[in-house]
Amino acid sequence: MSDVPILKDTERSTGRGALQKNIQAALALAGAVRSTLGPRGLDKLLIDDDGRTMVTNDGVTVLESAKVEHPVARMIINASSVQDKIARDGTTSTVLLCAEMLQNAWHLVTQGVHPAIIARGFRMAETHARAELESISFPSLRKHRILATKTCLTGKGHESMQALLAQLALDAAEAILVQGEDGAFADPTRVKILQQSGGVIGDSQLVTGLVLAKNRIHEDMPRHIKGGKILLIDGGIERRAMMGSVKLNVTSTGVLDAFRAKETALLEEQVEQLKALGVDLLACKEGIDDDARMMLTKAGIKAFRRVARSDLDLLARGCGATLVHDVKRAQESDLGAFISSKNETWGTTVHWIVETEEGGATFIAKGSTEAVLGEVERCFADALGVACQLVEDARLVPGGGATQVALARRLRRYAESIPGREQLGVEAFADALEVIPRVLAENAGLDPIDTLLNLVAAQSNAPADLADCIGLNVIERNPRNMVEMGVLEPLLILDQGIAGATEAAISVLRIDDVLWAKQDPSMPEVPQME
Ligand code: ADP
Ligand code: MG
Repeated sequence: MSDVPILKDTERSTGRGALQKNIQAALALAGAVRSTLGPRGLDKLLIDDDGRTMVTNDGVTVLESAKVEHPVARMIINASSVQDKIARDGTTSTVLLCAEMLQNAWHLVTQGVHPAIIARGFRMAETHARAELESISFPSLRKHRILATKTCLTGKGHESMQALLAQLALDAAEAILVQGEDGAFADPTRVKILQQSGGVIGDSQLVTGLVLAKNRIHEDMPRHIKGGKILLIDGGIERRAMMGSVKLNVTSTGVLDAFRAKETALLEEQVEQLKALGVDLLACKEGIDDDARMMLTKAGIKAFRRVARSDLDLLARGCGATLVHDVKRAQESDLGAFISSKNETWGTTVHWIVETEEGGATFIAKGSTEAVLGEVERCFADALGVACQLVEDARLVPGGGATQVALARRLRRYAESIPGREQLGVEAFADALEVIPRVLAENAGLDPIDTLLNLVAAQSNAPADLADCIGLNVIERNPRNMVEMGVLEPLLILDQGIAGATEAAISVLRIDDVLWAKQDPSMPEVPQME
């Protein structure tokens, strides 16, 4: 309890006590996802409040769905979410690394090293490790990029699905790659994902262009147009709806006809304007009236109605068009261009396929049930996120813990050159990096200590150009060249993971006073610490 009256409803822990509690929370969190790491990781069954279930192997999914109240634990979950958002992979590794750094820091604190010095050591180690990481990385061939995308699907779906999705994701990323002033840029939101039930996962495919499960509004409209101008309307071409409860008092027979004629004339005016603008293709978010439909058919304008706003946005970006609220406000500058527009019947559904200058692609997810489709979509989205980074920056590093062992070896050498106590922080950081190969071993049913020692020995005995590639082969359970085995990871994912974990660990080390309003939320179950 606080001794200051103003804090009387506040639970307070300070100094070492606060740090210990915070580190315990971090360790508890890492304990929750530890067993999911790597190809031999196990799944978790998550059951939410409503009894809905989900089986997952993804660290961030487990953590985000857990009801964790401890603020430090939340900070680490946040680091993992950021990793997911930026790098789309490496979420479990980030949490494990952060918790391990904190545990090692705790050992130093118990020996009398001040947390601020450890934090400084961590920062130095981070800078050095990230520079070394770049020197370990190598430019990749396309086949290596596919393998690296596949590594990122570790634990998600089965092997053959991973291979297919990795390939398609890379194709998609290449299709949307644009060369800007600041280099190449691939935006994954430009790839549309369309779920189609029926068939098997293996039938999933990538189609060039934007695909919508929509038919043109009249059979007489052309099925196929080769290029032209497109207008996108954020509304519809409809008769005006009466506002509120309007009562029309019809006093003579002609009034109603005149009223209808006026409305038809308004629709005609709109179609005339579309003709004048030279529109070949029209997509509306809302409806298109029956009369307007006939007029558009006659005018030779191919039209689609009730197109989802998200699809309109994708069309706008692909065609370089601007969405307008209604036809009357449309100007020539709002129009976009397309290369082709066609309708094709796949199975029983008619699809509309638009190809544009800017590229764009649609992934058609196939699967027998909703659950399978959902999984295919999630995996593809992850693979696509990774593939987009890879087409922008194709540098890779060896996986299977090889890079972490190599970095730890370099960091230990670097630590020797530091005269102050920060040296201990750098060493603690190096030890923490080795948590990845240790947990990969643990999950493969191997002794983590022996395995790590074997790996370190294998790297130091190997010729210099091969040393960094030696990681843990979890299938044969021995040290192997990860590049030969095709276990590769994008440089950016590891780099972001190291940066994120260090950031979170340092923030926790900096806290030396915790003030809980009212009562201490229950701490998660924690492993024993000395
Ligand atoms: P994260 O959420 O951190 O991405 P994963 O469960 O996806 O966790 O596991 C990724 C780790 O598994 C990486 O360190 C990667 O190098 C390793 N890994 C993936 N495939 C293999 C493999 N075939 N052999 C050894 N290690 C692998
Ligand atoms: Mg992964």
